[in-house]
Amino acid sequence: MEQHSETFEKERTSHFFMVLISFSVIFVGLTFFLNLSILAAEPHDNPTMHTNEEVSQGQRAHWDYLGVENPSHWGMLSKEYLTCEAGNRQSPINITMTHHEEHHQRLVFHYNTSQLHEINNGHTIQVSHVTGCRVDLNDREYKLRQFHFHSPSEHHIEGQAFPMEMHLVHQDEAGHVLVIAVMLKADAAQPVLRTLWKWLPDQVGQEVSIPLELSLTEMLPTSTHHYAYSGSLTTPPCTEGVQWIVLKDPMHVAQQDVDEFVNIIGHNARPIQPLRGRHIDDD
Ligand SMILES: [Zn+2]
Repeated sequence: MEQHSETFEKERTSHFFMVLISFSVIFVGLTFFLNLSILAAEPHDNPTMHTNEEVSQGQRAHWDYLGVENPSHWGMLSKEYLTCEAGNRQSPINITMTHHEEHHQRLVFHYNTSQLHEINNGHTIQVSHVTGCRVDLNDREYKLRQFHFHSPSEHHIEGQAFPMEMHLVHQDEAGHVLVIAVMLKADAAQPVLRTLWKWLPDQVGQEVSIPLELSLTEMLPTSTHHYAYSGSLTTPPCTEGVQWIVLKDPMHVAQQDVDEFVNIIGHNARPIQPLRGRHIDDD
């Protein structure tokens, strides 16, 4: 009887430990799995996508257009940059006639006159404005967050690059990013750009406030005819879900301004990315 009771007690104890161990294994496993999903979800599910390259730069891995940190290595520089390599809706692209689809969108600029603030963030010259500017696309409102420049252009049209491309980065209230690209031909000086260039910060991290009111509308072509497609940020973390509008009519920039930009920033165009079956809307 005593013997039996002892065996029973031993069995109860070992059963208790088995249950305890099983729960611990499940708990540790769940914690590990949850941590993994949070890490994996972070770059994609973050609703407040960084549109300000300068703000996000502080906490992120360094990257470049040349050397070992060049665009073909961006995806390997940090876990956060994985989309640069693994994404399949990346920007920029070459826009060709063969992938066009007729599509009509209502694009209306509500840009005004504002004081401007320039920063050299080491990758580009980024400009912010003081008073509200926005664009309406099919009656959805997108606020202008910042604009910046690339030389040569990042997008190509029928295989052709332009000397420069301006990116006007907008965001709606829900955080959706809309970037409007304006190609710049190096054939004539453009007064607003000329003024921006006069105050160009030539040191990395340098900021300049221009003590003048400038009309942002003057930087835009009169026609809003454009190409539209779904892509990504063209700099790390290469986040997808960016709505791209590439205006068909180019604007102008003085060759001297292109040269000066390249002297300060260097060439800053990410190479063309594969289209992978995406459609380009033609409006
Ligand atoms: Zn850009």
